[in-house]
Amino acid sequence: MKIAILPGDGIGTEIVAEAVKVLQALGLKFEMEQALVGGAAYEAHGHPLPESTLKLAKQADAILFGAVGDWKYDKLDRPLRPEQAILGLRKNLGLFANFRPAICYEELVGASSLKPELVSGLDILIIRELTGDIYFGQPRGRRTSPDGAFAGADEAFDTMRYTRPEVERIARVAFEAARKRSKRVTSVDKANVLETFQFWKDIVIEVHKDYPDVALDHMYVDNAAMQLVKEPKRFDVVVTGNMFGDILSDEASMLTGSIGMLPSASLNTQNQGLYEPSHGSAPDIAGKGIANPLATILSAAMMLRFSLNQTEAADRIEAAVKKVLAQGYRTADIYSPGTQKVSTAQMGQAVLKALS
Ligand code: NAD
Repeated sequence: MKIAILPGDGIGTEIVAEAVKVLQALGLKFEMEQALVGGAAYEAHGHPLPESTLKLAKQADAILFGAVGDWKYDKLDRPLRPEQAILGLRKNLGLFANFRPAICYEELVGASSLKPELVSGLDILIIRELTGDIYFGQPRGRRTSPDGAFAGADEAFDTMRYTRPEVERIARVAFEAARKRSKRVTSVDKANVLETFQFWKDIVIEVHKDYPDVALDHMYVDNAAMQLVKEPKRFDVVVTGNMFGDILSDEASMLTGSIGMLPSASLNTQNQGLYEPSHGSAPDIAGKGIANPLATILSAAMMLRFSLNQTEAADRIEAAVKKVLAQGYRTADIYSPGTQKVSTAQMGQAVLKALS
């Protein structure tokens, strides 16, 4: 089992270090190799996704990724910005299915911005299509001046586009995932206004014929955004396009209290995957040793489950995380009076201890 370790920038290095310790403590045989990505790779090699890093990622069974980005790179040409590394990895590895579970742990119910009764027991899986939609449409807008400003331009546009195979495969992923959960899928679209999403909806309905045991309903994205904060527990598996998924998954993440708790997985057709916390590089707290490493540790658990077929080890990590929360350990982002505030490293250590 070969794992590429790509910590990246900011808190990425701090949180990935803790997840690596947890993986090493499982007593399994992994080959782990680390490489630079994002701003760190730009500094060392002049590119956010150097050939050597991409090669390592392609050869690995799975990639554990921290986060990339820093405000100091905002003036760089777009292809050289740290965030391009993640788009490059998605494209080169064909990572089309993004799994974003939003689980509200009982101990953290008070940290949610919603009333406890709305989020207690919440367990939603948002599945976002990653390779199509308006983010990859043609033609795209054109910058008219070298500093990146749209000086003198009269318009900019992006086209929204999906192909039949793209919608079919993400629909299948959603129905398969639902079969392992409560057998309910909500497909989120904007079919009332956009042709692309009428097409999406029609294909989801066609694919659904192969999954009669799974219940399917459809919801417009504006209503879904509202229902997520009104009655989030009505959802189980939500499947949607690239842009709606981007927005809704961030909205769902906040239901659970902190973005520092949320793992994610991006998979290709061979179940090779990139696993990363849902948050970014958090430059505001980088280097302070206070970042929450649990989203990354839980991403490592998803990696064991989805790409490495180590269900038991994944269960052990998830149980250990529940245990440290029950024991009252909290990093600053999830701290509340009466609990014990710990650093990034102390939280990692607590999870290690809880594993045994
Ligand atoms: P962010 O997710 O990095 O931070 C948002 C807020 O959440 C900050 O206040 C931060 O301190 C806090 N936070 C994030 N993760 C945390 C953790 N583990 N523990 C405690 N607090 C945490 O988003 P941002 O500030 O908008 O972006 C910062 C940089 O990250 C930008 O350069 C952005 O492009 C990049 N980014 C990268 C990814 C990625 O690597 N996949 C994703 C999102 C943003």
